[in-house]
Amino acid sequence: MRRPLPTIEQFVQGIRSGNRVVLGQAITLVESARPDHQALAQEIIALLLQSTDHQSPIHQSPILQSLRIAVTGAPGVGKSTFIEALGTLLTGQGQSVAVLAIDPTSSVSKGSILGDKTRMERLSASELAFIRPSPSGESLGGVARKTRETILLVEAAGYDTVIIETVGVGQSEIAAHSMTDVFLLLLLPGAGDELQGIKRGIVEMADILAVNKADGDRVKLANQARAFYLNATHLLPPAPSGWTPKVLACSAEQGTGIAEIWQTIREYRDFTLANGYLHENRRQQAGYWLREALQAGLHTAFFSNPAVREKWAAVEPEVLAGKMSPFAAAEMVLGVFVKNRSVEGKFGHDSGLY
Ligand code: GDP
Repeated sequence: MRRPLPTIEQFVQGIRSGNRVVLGQAITLVESARPDHQALAQEIIALLLQSTDHQSPIHQSPILQSLRIAVTGAPGVGKSTFIEALGTLLTGQGQSVAVLAIDPTSSVSKGSILGDKTRMERLSASELAFIRPSPSGESLGGVARKTRETILLVEAAGYDTVIIETVGVGQSEIAAHSMTDVFLLLLLPGAGDELQGIKRGIVEMADILAVNKADGDRVKLANQARAFYLNATHLLPPAPSGWTPKVLACSAEQGTGIAEIWQTIREYRDFTLANGYLHENRRQQAGYWLREALQAGLHTAFFSNPAVREKWAAVEPEVLAGKMSPFAAAEMVLGVFVKNRSVEGKFGHDSGLY
């Protein structure tokens, strides 16, 4: 970090007053692998959570500061274009929007799916929008956790809507689902899901499906896709939220259908606020992330423990030679960890959990 680091108080005050430079610096701490940065990030988040105004009038809800929306779909379906259109609609209404991303491919920076194009230029020019590219990391678990923590920071900075964009190539959708209130799946006109490279499980997670690129001579194909998905969603088992998935069409490029999608997102929010699902889901998500953080912390503490590494190196040749069972050897190494667990382990982010 080139700039000198603000003090903790400056961080907390800066974020709470919506200072984007300070917010960006705090996110950089969250994303950093350095243990001292990590410790500082945790302190900042803890202070922010303590002092966050839990009576936000916007959502008329005791624990809901913002609405968290996952936007996913196959590469090229128009996610960036859609987020720009939706974000512009919201900022036009005076609402603030933060756009974060989960792109596990960003660890191999050259091959990054989201990172290598100039994205959302119009939206990023708005004072009310905060756009942050995906953190990088060695594992999806590490990337996702950083994004999960960044949500807390942007919410503390007062953003009304947090959009999580994923690359739509597999596991990143599941990670996004585990940290958002509403899951929006973008689809292409014409084709069924097998043809779009979308796994059935992803369709099942969607609260709202939107066929994008419903413009020009694709309108007819878009309507066909809409009918197809409407039928497909009718065949799905009922969602735990009690909500019936809605299937819409839009053109992110021309801006048509975007207001209807926003309206549907609001309906979803109101529906799940009224039946308690929204809060229950957030509680469960918090529990899930606690477990993930414990697993990641244990994983890192275990594998960075010198006594463990030594014992492991000692027993491995025996196991490879067939002289010791892998399970007995694992017990021995675990035993060494239990005895030496006071050795400080780094609770890093990239523990390869996924
Ligand atoms: P992403 O990979 O899912 O983020 O997709 P992009 O937003 O980068 O869009 C991929 C391509 O589709 C770009 O060339 C966009 O201009 C185009 N595109 C996006 N939305 C629409 C739309 O609503 N209609 C049409 N015709 N093209 C679109």
